[in-house]
Amino acid sequence: MNDSHSKPLKDQNALVTGSSSGIGAAIARKLAQHGAAVCVNYRSSADCADDVVRSIVAEGGHAFAAGADVSDESAVQGLFSECVARFGRLDIVVANAGIQRDAPLEQMTLEQWRAVIDVNLTGYFLSAREALRLFAKQEINPALSRAAGKIIFISSVHELIPWAGHANYAAAKGGIMQLTKSMAQEVASRRIRVNAIAPGAIRTDINRQAWEGPDALSKLLKLIPYNRIGEVDDVAEAAAWLASDAADYVVGTTLFVDGGMVLYPGFASGG
Ligand code: NAP
Repeated sequence: MNDSHSKPLKDQNALVTGSSSGIGAAIARKLAQHGAAVCVNYRSSADCADDVVRSIVAEGGHAFAAGADVSDESAVQGLFSECVARFGRLDIVVANAGIQRDAPLEQMTLEQWRAVIDVNLTGYFLSAREALRLFAKQEINPALSRAAGKIIFISSVHELIPWAGHANYAAAKGGIMQLTKSMAQEVASRRIRVNAIAPGAIRTDINRQAWEGPDALSKLLKLIPYNRIGEVDDVAEAAAWLASDAADYVVGTTLFVDGGMVLYPGFASGG
């Protein structure tokens, strides 16, 4: 197999926000396995980000860790400057950093609302805007990719499925759905591809209470037609494909990686 098949992202550079753990860490590793050099962004877990970098380097890849709060405009600008200083150019930006601050709406504080909107929606906007500014300045290099740049938003099935007790999170993810489509429409003619991935229930820290223990897991599996919880690599594989030229004609879409969670499983036996 030649390199363009085994390493379809060879010589490309990627930034993955919030890749010190969970889905982001898996995406960073996968992009590196496919040949990209990766900036592993984190907010507070420097040690975990260093572990991700070490695991990439141990497999022969290239990576560095960079701390930045994605909800802070100047921090995001600094993060992109650091990527350019280290890599020269960026080809792939994955906006993934996300948090939950759950509460019934009547009890939800403005701080909980703002924290989630600031990281999960404004953070995506800030990362995507810097990516666009950078991609606009870069020449398309057909030896690297047919696109001038690729942006991938990690959304959620909750861009579609309402989620009682998590209105801030669902509102942010619903916003990402329109951000994806509006931005894709705006920049597609410049050969910049914007797409999203909507994971279902993936086994990470963010939703530990939903899968830890047999009772929680069997309750969760009732919502998943494919009858297994998702693993971080399920999402990472989709991200690597969306970032590659194999997906060159995929523009402005959301790829659901959810074991069928959005298929209204309650209707599986006729409703
Ligand atoms: P996770 O394991 O808790 O990871 C969250 C990551 O985001 C961490 O690396 C964290 O870094 C980073 N982060 C949080 N706030 C940040 C900020 N302000 N600036 C920069 N980085 C920040 O969660 P996950 O499950 O992998 O979630 C990743 C994304 O997938 C989120 O957008 C989430 O909504 C989405 N998602 C997850 C699932 C699921 O089932 N797990 C399903 C659908 C969608 P630090 O630890 O360094 O702060």
